[in-house]
Amino acid sequence: MMLVKSIKEMQGIVKKWKKEGHSVGFVPTMGALHEGHQSLIERAARENDRVVVSIFVNPTQFGPTEDFDAYPRDLEKDCSLCQGVGVHVVFSPDAKELYFPDQSTMVHVSGLTDVLCGSKRPGHFDGVCLVVSKFFNIIQPDKAYFGQKDAQQVTVIKRMVRDLNLDVEIVVCPIVRESDGLARSSRNVYLSPEERQAALVLSRSLEVAKNALNNGERNASVLKAALLSCIVQEPLAEIDYVEIVDSESLQVLKGKIANSILIPVAVFIGKTRLIDNIAYKI
Ligand code: AMP
Repeated sequence: MMLVKSIKEMQGIVKKWKKEGHSVGFVPTMGALHEGHQSLIERAARENDRVVVSIFVNPTQFGPTEDFDAYPRDLEKDCSLCQGVGVHVVFSPDAKELYFPDQSTMVHVSGLTDVLCGSKRPGHFDGVCLVVSKFFNIIQPDKAYFGQKDAQQVTVIKRMVRDLNLDVEIVVCPIVRESDGLARSSRNVYLSPEERQAALVLSRSLEVAKNALNNGERNASVLKAALLSCIVQEPLAEIDYVEIVDSESLQVLKGKIANSILIPVAVFIGKTRLIDNIAYKI
């Protein structure tokens, strides 16, 4: 496995692979790798001849008051995880290598980014779309792997790929959870033991919603009320948003639900903002 920091070198490697007829799978990450990332990487390794994992804490997707500086970084540990699961290249450029000081191009997906995390984290998805499109151009992957954990990100990236006719297949992988239900996240390391317990309220509230759906509940407002009343019982939790949305358009649903829905939740546990979701087909 190689650790590559230069764009030119990465492009050279990919050119050679393509000449040799190899397919390329790509997993974009911000590092601090855990079993969620690992599931994406293992799938990429099964489905492609060559696998690139990017490790880049992308400054353009963090807001000024967010945790860019505090975000956990351990490149050495990440590389050894990658080495064990069939990665060929870890691509980890510096921000100075990736961004021009007078970078003027934006990639903005409108509509889908006005809601949920997009409305709570202004500019976040512009940063995500810019960095992902730069990586797609550099790495030219046949398939790119994203987690359902970041459901809105998946929807936005798919739309960007469609609208810009990018020649890459987006593969969505299921949410990997701890045995007690907490969705794995690089940010879970911020949680104190007490907060770690409190964080279970996210998956618990989604279970409540899923049970209600399984029992035939079809009213979005009733479902939302059930989620909210579960979360407010946890004193360390502060709700950022809880919504019932159409899984394609991400538009908020209020009355009777039909078709495919997504229930995304974003909750602060202490200072740590956690997200989780379930998708449900009626
Ligand atoms: P991040 O490093 O947080 O930017 O995540 C990189 C990729 O891993 C994204 O596509 C995430 O959706 C995915 N990912 C993060 N956590 C999980 C998880 N618990 N299960 C599945 N995928 C995940």
